[in-house]
Amino acid sequence: MNQKIRETIDSLERQLISFAQDLVRIESRTGQEGNLVQRVKQEMEKLNYDDIIIDKVGNIIGIIGNGPVKLLFDSHIDHVDVNDADEWLHGPYSGDIEDGKLYGRGSSDMKGSFASAVYAGHIMKKLGLAEGKTIFICGSVMEEDYDGEGLYHAIVDNNLKPDYVVICEPTHLNISMGHSGRAIYKVNVKGTSSHGAAPEKGDNTVYKAIKIIERIEELGKKYMAMPSERPSIALTKIESTSASMNAVPGSCTIYIDRRICLHETEESIGKEMDLLIGDIDADWEIYDAIGKSYTGEDIMLHSYLPAWEIKKEHPLAQSCFQTYQEVFGQYPKPYKWNFSTNGVASAKLGIPTIGFGAGIEKMAHMANEYCPISDLILACHFFSLLPLKL
Ligand SMILES: [Zn+2]
Repeated sequence: MNQKIRETIDSLERQLISFAQDLVRIESRTGQEGNLVQRVKQEMEKLNYDDIIIDKVGNIIGIIGNGPVKLLFDSHIDHVDVNDADEWLHGPYSGDIEDGKLYGRGSSDMKGSFASAVYAGHIMKKLGLAEGKTIFICGSVMEEDYDGEGLYHAIVDNNLKPDYVVICEPTHLNISMGHSGRAIYKVNVKGTSSHGAAPEKGDNTVYKAIKIIERIEELGKKYMAMPSERPSIALTKIESTSASMNAVPGSCTIYIDRRICLHETEESIGKEMDLLIGDIDADWEIYDAIGKSYTGEDIMLHSYLPAWEIKKEHPLAQSCFQTYQEVFGQYPKPYKWNFSTNGVASAKLGIPTIGFGAGIEKMAHMANEYCPISDLILACHFFSLLPLKL
């Protein structure tokens, strides 16, 4: 079967590459994925998908088969903006290919991998690899600013109930077993404004905030001294309000980026926040990011994204290892991503989740982003074979 998959991919290679180029050429910033979704729908129709859903937040899900075991391949189809167009040797939306590399914003993060997954769905159908399975090839929206929300809606709103999820974010063809979590906390310091000429009549919130900031810095240093898989904490933004440059600020807000380890919970970090505030008149909350999908739906991300991992012994991990051995002729050396993915949603829903994808992680959000063409072919092979091993 492995040989047969290889031959089929060979015969489709040019189509797959040109589809990946098209995806890169269609801009799809977070919340503006509509045109791209239409292009994907067209390709899925051409490739004989059994069913295609475009849901209310605008995710697109191609379906192959209707068996009892359900496997979902997730790729986000939005990308970050380009603020450094001068530095790009190939235009950020050129989709140029040079020396075996597909160039453009989103090529590695992660339209290349998505193109491979879309073609893998086709190959599964063509070669009967999805026997006894239902395969969802999901292109989810708004991941860059709202990690997990698009995939959460795809799974829950459409009642997909997948048994397994593969996050197709770039791993450069390695297997990712999970990643640490992240959260954004907002601390509001309370005080009283007064005229700058009479500071003693006010209660300067920035002076009070300094004490909290010092505690954050101290805790950050303590975490940095810990061995790997440690948490981290950093102040990332501070803002204050006052009536004018001649007034003592009556409010001050601090934003904290907190990276989360597996054993940590919303509760345990809540206690940490209480300690950071201590005797200062302030309160804290987890930051809620609010946005709109291209279909006009409100999206709200509660910015507490837990860490997750899959164990090596898990059947999904074992199936991925076997698939890897057949495709690459060697045993994998699995690792963990150092960034957050849509896996925060599937893992939170209790669905076994793992990562594998085309493209190079460090290319994400960089000028001159590219994806090796060989990654597209090999990722397509891996995705196509995986259902047979489950
Ligand atoms: Zn990504």
